Amino acid sequence: MDASWRERYSRQILFPGIGEAGQEALLGSHAAIVGCGALGSFHAAALARAGVGCITIIDRDFVEPGNLHRQWLFEESDAAQALPKAAAAVRRIAAINSSIDLRGRVADLTPGNIAELLDGAQIVLDGTDNFDTRYLINDFAVSRGIPWIYGAAVGSYGLSMPVIPGRTACLRCVYPDPPSGAQPTCETSGILGAIVSLVASLQVAAALQILSGHAARVTARITTADIWDGRGVRQIDSPPRDADCPCCGRREFVHLEDVRRPAATLCGRNAVQIHERKRPIDLQELHARLQPLGEVRATSTCYGSSRRPTK
Ligand SMILES: [Zn+2]
Repeated sequence: MDASWRERYSRQILFPGIGEAGQEALLGSHAAIVGCGALGSFHAAALARAGVGCITIIDRDFVEPGNLHRQWLFEESDAAQALPKAAAAVRRIAAINSSIDLRGRVADLTPGNIAELLDGAQIVLDGTDNFDTRYLINDFAVSRGIPWIYGAAVGSYGLSMPVIPGRTACLRCVYPDPPSGAQPTCETSGILGAIVSLVASLQVAAALQILSGHAARVTARITTADIWDGRGVRQIDSPPRDADCPCCGRREFVHLEDVRRPAATLCGRNAVQIHERKRPIDLQELHARLQPLGEVRATSTCYGSSRRPTK
């Protein structure tokens, strides 16, 4: 580590839990963030400032004015331009820390692309807003032995749980199947920015422990918090691993199997996700076909920023 980096990260290096060896490990590490909304934009900024050397940001959505009260990375101009969140995040994060690798991908994480999009990641942070994606991440992470940190927030309530394959319970040990029926979302119940930053901070702390070489310090606990009803923060031990868990016990990764999924509306009100069916949709051809009807804008799906050469 050169002198400028030692100065930049000096207060983090002074913290005995990290030290110079831990900072070196962070600089050489790779984290993936799935979903760059409220939780994910906090993860991205915090990990970049901490010096995580490579960050992959995956998000399928666009910045809207209704995001701005809780999604710390984004600005009014991002919403005015309806920028993809992955693109706006890469641009902002590169201004926060120009010495790290950033990979922004405008994509919906699916069984068909998860291996490619999460390639090389040593940890996955959950910034999603749906259970389909969380069960997919859980299957992938357990199958590859990669830790992931579950996080969710709605209204004034949130929770987080680290999953370290082989040591802690996985998502399916705790909740064998995704919940059925409509779940409360930020669209139906609203959300406070303060619960988001609390949950995201817990996720980031666990990620820093793991990436700095101290995974053993991560406690197998579920943390819940309500910042409005007076109950505050509570922690319970995660249940032990279930030897008969279909995922981490029997290693049946059903959520990794490619299945047809219906079109789904996104968290934003003016967006629809169209999943691939029998053949991929040719967006160039669709662009040309819609052009006569009005203004049609196409955006790239990959955004990136590379670190400067090490001095
Ligand atoms: Zn399990």
